[in-house]
Formats: sequence, C-alpha cells, structure tokens
Amino acid sequence: MEEHISLIHVDRQFQSIKREVLASIENVLNSGQYILGKEVEQFELEVGQYLNTAYSVSVANGTDALVLSLKALGIGKGDEVITTPFTFFATAEAISRIGAKPVFVDIDQDSLNIDASYIEAAITSRTKAILPVHLFGLSCDINKVCQVAKKHNLFVVEDACQAFGATNHELKLGTVGDIGCYSFFPTKNLSSIGDGGLVVTNNEEIARKIKKLRHHGSTRKYYHDEIGYNSRLDEIHAAILRICLKKIDLWNSVRIKRAKKYQSLDGINGMKTPKIPASNGSHIYHLYCIEHDHRDDLMDYLKQHNIASGIYYPIPLHLQEVYKNLGYKKGDFPVSEQKADVLLALPMHPFLSDEEQDRVIKVLQAYKEPGKDDD
Ligand SMILES: *Cc1c(COP(=O)(O)O)cnc(C)c1O
Repeated sequence: MEEHISLIHVDRQFQSIKREVLASIENVLNSGQYILGKEVEQFELEVGQYLNTAYSVSVANGTDALVLSLKALGIGKGDEVITTPFTFFATAEAISRIGAKPVFVDIDQDSLNIDASYIEAAITSRTKAILPVHLFGLSCDINKVCQVAKKHNLFVVEDACQAFGATNHELKLGTVGDIGCYSFFPTKNLSSIGDGGLVVTNNEEIARKIKKLRHHGSTRKYYHDEIGYNSRLDEIHAAILRICLKKIDLWNSVRIKRAKKYQSLDGINGMKTPKIPASNGSHIYHLYCIEHDHRDDLMDYLKQHNIASGIYYPIPLHLQEVYKNLGYKKGDFPVSEQKADVLLALPMHPFLSDEEQDRVIKVLQAYKEPGKDDD
C-alpha cells in the first residue's frame, strides 16, 4: 500500500517555521505577560494593516468572534439574522447563542454561498442583520448582500473564518460589511496551534464594545458595566500568528497553484471542479471540493488507495436535529440539500507535495464510475 495522503498537513506547516515559533514561545514565557500583552497588541496592529481595516480585536475563537459581534450590534432575543444553511454549524450557533433566530435562505449553485437574490423575501420587521459566509475560501456576492442590507437598514457581519486573505474587488473579505469575523483554528488558512479568533471593523464604537465584551464587560480594571465574556487570544497564539501572517500570501498562493492543477479533473469520470462566478472575487481554497453524483463511492475508492477525502457538510443546518424547532423541512433549500450529497473535499494544503497531488490526480483519472462500462 502506498503512503497515506492526508487532507491537510498542519504538522508540516509547523515544521516549516519551527525555529521561529519556538523562539517566539520562549520569548512569551520569559516576558511573564501571558494575557493581553505585547504580542496581542502587535498582532492586532499587523493584522489590521494586512487587512486594511481600522480596528482589529482578537478573541478566543471564531465562534466567539461571531457571538461578540452580534452582541455588540445589540442583537438578541426576538431578533432574526439571515444566513446560509450550508456552512459550519458555528455560523448559526452564534446567532442562537445570543438568543436570536437564524433565518436561512438557499445558496447559489456555483459559489455555494448565500444567494443574495433570495434575501429580501426573508426579511421581516424583526430582521437585524445578514450573516453571509465566504465558504471554502470564496467570496459570497458580498456587494449585493451589502446593497440589500443598506436598503433595509440591516447590519452585515461577514463570516470570513475560511477566507483569510481572499478578496473581492481588491477588498479583503471580512472588511466589506460592518464587521468581519475570522477563526485561527489549526486547520484554517491562517492558524495557530490552538483556538483563536478575530473581529475587524471600521467602526470605532463597535470595536470598543467588542474589546469590552471580550474582557468581562470591563474597560477599567475591576469596574464592570455589562455582563461580558472571557474571550481573549493568548499571547503565545498571537506570537505564532504574527509569524504565520508573514507567510499567509505565500501559503494561499500555493493553494491556488494546487487548485489550478486539480482543475484538469473537470469533466473526467463524472467529476465537476469548483466554479468561480465573476462577482465572487478570488478563491483561496481553504477546502477544494469537487462534485460527484457517486460521491460516497468515490470517497471509498480514494480510501482504498490510501487517500483521505472529506465531506463538507453532510447535513445542511436547517435539517440539523437541534434546529427542528425552527420548523424547516427537507426540500426547503434544494440547492444546499443537493450539494450536501455530492461535494467531496480533496487533499489541499500548502504543504501537500507535488508528488502527493500527482498521485491523487492519477488515482482519480483511473476511477470507474458505478454503472459505467469500460471503454
Ligand atoms: C471554523 C469556522 C467557524 C468557527 O471558528 P472556531 O474558531 O472553530 O470557533 C465559524 N464559521 C465558519 C464558516 C468556520 O469555518
């Protein structure tokens, strides 16, 4: 059996910057300042410069970035937030967490992101915000989302957890709407060796509120004027993220190079490769997902060849057990439901080697679809 090929290689990423990372950790340890110190301050400054945004507030994880953002906008019980059912659970969980109700609208066939043309029909008097996701590293039609939001006086909170560094018409994703949220979970494009998150905004008032919320509702030590959270990025993670931030454009460009190579699989043995609609900017391939009508069979086949693949996501959020109370049923969002049955993520990471990718492609080229005769 040939060697196993993983979906991602966070270990190799760490190896590539090991010396710098270990030195930075030692630095933090020697400093005696482990929470909200110099590293966090510097990281917030540098990441703000990279994204070209006025305010950057780091938090404990991407989910908290969303929760604190919605909270800072004054959204809560009785309010509705419009989002996509085809995303990682945390997107909708953040809405529910603050007592508001997620309202789903279906996705676009090609971008796999919220179909902005469905949003208006979902707006009610209780709608407060739109929470679009830039899924797999590709922008949603963010300009159209913002137009609809403006017309109806709604906030836009971008879930850019999978899209750090991707753009739409020169703007970095996460900086187009009122607030952008990022995750630094180890598998994300920009990542640390644990949990981490970030909120960005150009609105000073919102930034101030989030800074307060992440630190027990306090701006002055031991004086608290609201119930907040304990949601801070650790100094060690900030130090590591400062190192990774310098590499992110390079790493994203390798992903793009890998994606171009995979693109040759389009139309081969029933495989469809990702499409990028013109309105959707650059794709940084957090995940590289192809479509196949016999997805599960293809996954088994890859497994037999010792190649990992992944299903993102098997169940759209409107059909999740926990959201039964929202009253959705099968058939409500046909595009999301169909994509859940056919998408398959192939190995994709800046540290996937040429040889490994070549083997994946060769194995896929040799795939025989069920029911198809040899020719
Ligand atoms: C990862 C992710 C989150 C949550 O981030 P955590 O850091 O794991 O809390 C939210 N939304 C999307 C789309 C994600 O991919």
